Parts: sequence; C-alpha cells; structure tokens
Amino acid sequence: MKSIILIAPPAAGKGTEAEQIKNQYNIPSISTGDLLRDVVKRDDEQAQAIREILNKGALVPDEIVLDLLKARISQSDCEIGYILDGFPRNVSQAEAYDKILKEMKRDTGVVIVLDIDKEIAKSRISGRFTCPMCKRIYNTNTGDMKPKKIGLCDDCNVELIQRSDDNPETYDDRYNTYLEKTEPLVDYYDAQGIVYHVDSSKSPSHTHAQVIKILGE
Ligand code: AMP
Repeated sequence: MKSIILIAPPAAGKGTEAEQIKNQYNIPSISTGDLLRDVVKRDDEQAQAIREILNKGALVPDEIVLDLLKARISQSDCEIGYILDGFPRNVSQAEAYDKILKEMKRDTGVVIVLDIDKEIAKSRISGRFTCPMCKRIYNTNTGDMKPKKIGLCDDCNVELIQRSDDNPETYDDRYNTYLEKTEPLVDYYDAQGIVYHVDSSKSPSHTHAQVIKILGE
C-alpha cells in the first residue's frame, strides 16, 4: 500500500476520509492536529503556547510538528504505509518531509486533494463532534454521520466533544491560512505527478468511492 497525503481546507472531510481508508486498507491514519491536541492536554509552557496557536487557527512552528511526525512514522505500524491527515501544511514542511523520507528510504506515495467550496465546508463545523478516545468524527448535520445515541460515541460510549477551534471566527482564519500556506502544496506535488483531485462537497461515501478508484489504479 502506498502512503497517502490528504490535502483539503478545514472541515472538508479529511479526518472522515482518513478513517475510512484506515479501516478499508488497514494502515494507520496520522493526524498532526490530533498529535498536537494531545500535547495541549499537558500542563506546561509548551502546551499553553500551542493551545494559543490552535485557538487562533494559525500554524504551529514546523520544528514542533516535524518532531511529532517523525516520531510517529518511525513506529513499526507505519512500515506498510500510512495516511497523513493535516501534514504537510506548507512547502517548508513538505521539503523537510522529503528529506525524512529519503533518510528512511521511502517514497511520498500519492496526494489526494479534497475539493470543496468554502461555505459548504464552513457549514459543517457547527455539527462536528469527535470522540476523545478513538477520535472518530461525527456530524449531527449529516444523516450518515450522526451518532446512534445523541452525544455519545457508538464504539466507546463516552461523551463526544466539540473542538475549541470549530467556530465561525476561527474557521475564517484557518481557511485563510489554508489558502496562503497549504494550497501551494498542490503545485509542489503536481510537479512530481502524484496529485489526484476528489469532489468532497457531497456525502462521505461519495468522497470515499472516488478515493477507492484512485487507490485501485
Ligand atoms: P486539524 O486537526 O488538521 O484541523 O488541525 C488543527 C490545528 O492544528 C491547525 O489549525 C493548526 O493550528 C494545527 N496543525 C495541525 N497540523 C499542523 C501542521 N502540519 N503544521 C502546523 N500546524 C498544524
């Protein structure tokens, strides 16, 4: 299985699609946002500094993210390939990642871009809830993503939480950060001939069907 990089604006469905690929192909899904949210749970100065950046919708400094990422992809479950959800976020992270891959004698794999209109993505945030244990994403605005029992994870039976950066004000900042810093990655990877586009404006199953087709090619 090749590794997969998912690139998309915030709330386009990266996390949901990553979970589906993970379940179908049995490879780990790595969300740098989740790795950072775990750091933020600590009670120290670095956690406080990162918490402030997350709440502003800005990007955490590359060195911190690269350390977390490198440690995670060095684990044995990543040898067979993995999905990256939220990394790289800018061209300098992509360049650093290329160097890491070279050292590890791995290749980049494929890059899948989830295309979506800003207002459709933004409208999803008010219903988005996550399980704090298994990180599964639910959406109370979307029929096939609702939890079976209101407010509880179907698998872990614990209370679902809403991300503190899922509010309309922070969303606009996160979206602008995406346009300015992350979208240029599409050209960066296009130059390597490994980019595929998917329409992510409809249901998760519609998105996933297109992804399966790409991965099967
Ligand atoms: P996400 O869960 O991917 O939406 O990420 C949530 C937040 O974590 C982002 O708005 C950034 O503040 C931070 N973040 C996640 N991944 C990265 C990354 N690769 N580089 C810098 N900051 C990141």
